[in-house]
Amino acid sequence: NTEVQDYRSELGIKINSKKCPKPIQLWAQVGLNEKIHLLLKKYQYEKPTPIQAQTVPAIMSGRDIIGIAKTGSGKTLAFLLPLFRHVLAQPKSAPGEGMIALIMSPTRELALQIYAECKKFSIILGLRVACVYGGASISEQIGDLKRGADIVVCTPGRMIDILCANNKRITNLKRVTFLVLDEADRMFDMGFGPQIMCIIDNIRPDRQTIMFSATFPPKVENVAKKILTRPLEIVAGGRS
Ligand code: ADP
Ligand code: MG
Repeated sequence: NTEVQDYRSELGIKINSKKCPKPIQLWAQVGLNEKIHLLLKKYQYEKPTPIQAQTVPAIMSGRDIIGIAKTGSGKTLAFLLPLFRHVLAQPKSAPGEGMIALIMSPTRELALQIYAECKKFSIILGLRVACVYGGASISEQIGDLKRGADIVVCTPGRMIDILCANNKRITNLKRVTFLVLDEADRMFDMGFGPQIMCIIDNIRPDRQTIMFSATFPPKVENVAKKILTRPLEIVAGGRS
């Protein structure tokens, strides 16, 4: 379909598969909750950025995704909007059940940024979010997890500390069906590879996995082969 191809090249989008859903022009073209539409307006996210235009419908189709786009291109919302829809579609968790969506991020600053973006939507959507990262009190974070969280944003090291802590009732990964690795290149550069793999080994294999990265070096490509299933690769604005 040349119309779709033209629109993709206008957006600067490249994909590795013919079976990729069409990029959207307007938020109204994907099935988003009415509350989300109101919040997108409120925060002046008038229309999708190029990476959002292609990855939001692709993620919503249920496929595993590798999204490559430079910093500042709007990757956070690109995974959060499908994530909210996924989590809202699951039965509410009972006490003691773990999160449904897990987002991994390389640093405390980035984790807190994702958490802040998440909170803009989650309160109105009635979803509970926890953020766990190093360099801050672990007991408060454990408290948040114990109270229950539908969505958890983490740095890999602190997540491992919490999962390995003696009290197994803090949380667990049994219900995780939506996994995001944000800034994958940085996480692996920083040496979080073993921790990330250890966490993922404890998540059910039929999950949906989304990986976002600014670059896609061979090291990250090899990891992607291990943890993603038949991923669609979406590059916005050329590889950096
Ligand atoms: P990245 O993760 O790709 O570096 P971010 O998700 O942090 O980018 O987004 C960069 C900035 O763009 C943020 O300030 C965010 O609020 C803003 N932004 C994201 N999506 C949109 C949109 N659709 N319309 C307007 N601004 C947006
Ligand atoms: Mg980002």
